[in-house]
Amino acid sequence: MTTQAASGPGGLAVRCEELVHIYRTGDLDVVAVRGVDLVVEPGERVALLGPSGSGKSTLLAMLGGLLPPSAGRVWVGDDEIGGMNERALLRLRAQRVGVVLQGAARNLLQYATPADNVRFAHRSLPRSRRRAVLPPLELLDALGLGPVANHPVPSLSGGEQQRVALAVAVANGPGLLLADEPTSQLDHHGRDAVLDLIDTVHDRFGTTVVVVTHDPEVGGRLGRTVTMRYGRVGQEGRSGEQFAVVGKDGSVHLPDELVVEWPPGTEVVVERDGDALRLLRRPR
Ligand code: ADP
Ligand code: MG
Repeated sequence: MTTQAASGPGGLAVRCEELVHIYRTGDLDVVAVRGVDLVVEPGERVALLGPSGSGKSTLLAMLGGLLPPSAGRVWVGDDEIGGMNERALLRLRAQRVGVVLQGAARNLLQYATPADNVRFAHRSLPRSRRRAVLPPLELLDALGLGPVANHPVPSLSGGEQQRVALAVAVANGPGLLLADEPTSQLDHHGRDAVLDLIDTVHDRFGTTVVVVTHDPEVGGRLGRTVTMRYGRVGQEGRSGEQFAVVGKDGSVHLPDELVVEWPPGTEVVVERDGDALRLLRRPR
């Protein structure tokens, strides 16, 4: 564990090298993540975009140590988490990484109230760090959950549970926040409250943030976008500008609208023209 993380806040870097995850279900293997290279700098905020089934949730779960890589390597801060045992991973999540899984209810203790859920997360911190983080009730208030703080979790709406899950994930003032579609059940007020809290946490703790989302507004507010397609990173966006990413095998993902016009298997000639490349479709 790094000295910086042990003593308090600070954003954690994330690095993946040729990261692969294969789900083995009976006779069938599903390659959900097929060779992802990705670097997220400490304190950077990234939106993970891409169509359903492109591997976003699988990648996020590997970054949080909730799914083991089938191949490749992944680091959070100085720790290579692919090789860590379950106990070390639990400690990492309790103290330095906040995770919101897809499907709000999965993140919460259903028999406890929102206030207790957040307090439990808070309590797993060493005493020296508890004073530095946001108090549980303040966190719930920031998300408009003050009035339901002491209600049973199952009586809350999906959107309320989703916000409680975020409050739990940031209760430890994490160095890395991983959130899988944290605004999918929220109206624009709820979404803004979530984004504002992510900003607060980022400003206060230097937190690195990776958020899976379908909402372009969320992508726009986080600054950097990484778009997945078929288990690979196909596109990066920075400050609104989009870039295709050259893969290890030299492949480049075409923009979606071109894939319709030029379906897989289309043969092209690649011509060099100074710094530019020209793709010419072979006439049919
Ligand atoms: P996304 O979050 O982008 O929608 P996922 O990471 O959930 O994508 O899924 C990527 C691929 O892995 C999909 O083809 C999906 O059907 C498959 N998949 C996801 N979870 C499982 C699982 N538990 N068992 C088998 N296949 C899975
Ligand atoms: Mg998903």
